[in-house]
Amino acid sequence: MLDVRGLQKIYEGRERRVEAVRDLTFSLDAGELACLVGPSGCGKTTLLKCVAGLLAPTSGEVLLDGRAVTGPPPGMAVVFQEYGRSLFPWMSVHDNVELPLRQKKLPRARRRELVHEALASVGLADAHRAYPWQLSGGMQQRVAIARAVAYEPNVLLMDEPFAAVDAQTRADLEDLIRDLWHKLRVTILFVTHDIDEAVYLGQRVLILSSSPTVVQEQLTIDLPDERDQLHTRADPRFTSLRTHVYEQIQAAKRNAGAPAGGSRDTEVPGDARPGLDRTPA
Ligand code: ADP
Ligand code: MG
Repeated sequence: MLDVRGLQKIYEGRERRVEAVRDLTFSLDAGELACLVGPSGCGKTTLLKCVAGLLAPTSGEVLLDGRAVTGPPPGMAVVFQEYGRSLFPWMSVHDNVELPLRQKKLPRARRRELVHEALASVGLADAHRAYPWQLSGGMQQRVAIARAVAYEPNVLLMDEPFAAVDAQTRADLEDLIRDLWHKLRVTILFVTHDIDEAVYLGQRVLILSSSPTVVQEQLTIDLPDERDQLHTRADPRFTSLRTHVYEQIQAAKRNAGAPAGGSRDTEVPGDARPGLDRTPA
């Protein structure tokens, strides 16, 4: 459904030329939940902006359902890291969530229905009339998620959406994302610098190298689909996957500047689990 091919982005300044990403190639199937991890400054936000059609790549292309993305595609929603700047402070929570639905020109009754469902799904059914500045950071981020969900996107991009919330809220929001994904079957590309979060959330983890950025590895997360904070994180398989991702990122830092060998598709061999057929890479 989503194809990123040979994506390169160079920011050209007057004095400075920054190659934010060098050569990124990967694709997402419809309905997939993939996480993208990489060190800070490796170009994750740049990549998302290119995928969202907010930034033109220097070379390479992004295809959505086979069509090149040249501007914000209909059916795509983005949740940014800075929720504080992504909600309009003069609009109530209800109006913030409703805004994109007005732009979609949905009839009033349908808008009302979608806003109610979305706010209920993020646990904010009582907050319609509140203003963003009256809410905690975690609640504001839930409003931003509700706005994205109400829009009924086919593709949801999330850029380190939980980086600024406390650990407990973050755990709740992670579970919320998996719930919503199960319910809506939307395709999600979730960017994070947090290795545990990537392994906990994803069906697949794409590991980016540090600059010059390439896709270092694509790892299948063979944890059971039913995940919960206590059991999944205590699962030995979770530990071996996170260790693997950690080692890959460390290796990527050591190899920074080395020529790209192309991304590898990997499965981590490890503990034998009955009923799981695993082929070592
Ligand atoms: P990440 O999200 O992984 O932290 P970014 O995509 O924000 O990384 O940035 C990647 C690189 O591109 C960094 O070196 C950053 O300084 C640079 N960069 C990002 N945006 C711009 C811009 N608008 N102009 C120039 N350089 C930029
Ligand atoms: Mg970023």
